Amino acid sequence: MEEAKIKRLKELREKDRTEDETCELEALEYEWGLEIFRRIPLPTCCKAAQMYPAVLFSQSVYEGDSREKEGRWEAALSESMRRDMFRLHGIDQFDWFRNRPAAEFCPFCGEKLPKMRRKKTFPEMTCVVTDGGYYCDTCQQRLSQCRCYPSEHAWEPDTSEGGTT
Ligand SMILES: [Zn+2]
Ligand SMILES: [Zn+2]
Repeated sequence: MEEAKIKRLKELREKDRTEDETCELEALEYEWGLEIFRRIPLPTCCKAAQMYPAVLFSQSVYEGDSREKEGRWEAALSESMRRDMFRLHGIDQFDWFRNRPAAEFCPFCGEKLPKMRRKKTFPEMTCVVTDGGYYCDTCQQRLSQCRCYPSEHAWEPDTSEGGTT
């Protein structure tokens, strides 16, 4: 999404809007939603991994400062599926997150998933959680309302050793 559109989006979110501006904002929010989704790292080994995300790179928001935590490749589950898993197995969600296994290979093509590293500079407009999973420090909203890039946007594949560059 271009810089000018992002600027306009921020402007529209904050001002008293006319009806036309509300429509404009809705269209921009829709585009922004796709932009957020695009920033979640997915395996790049094959088309299937991109089109039918079964694993994604993820950080838990429930412990400590999200800028310092490790991330891992893991099963992509919907919020409702997670909740059902907690209920079904009578487990504590914090334990569940802590113990979730890391995925090592792409389930479609069998390629080893890349090692990830933090980007050298922490990217702007990215969600930061330091309170154990309630609010985003970047936008000051509750996490369920946060429209920042996901904290995983701060990661990239580590191509320094054995990589292609
Ligand atoms: Zn693959
Ligand atoms: Zn936020």
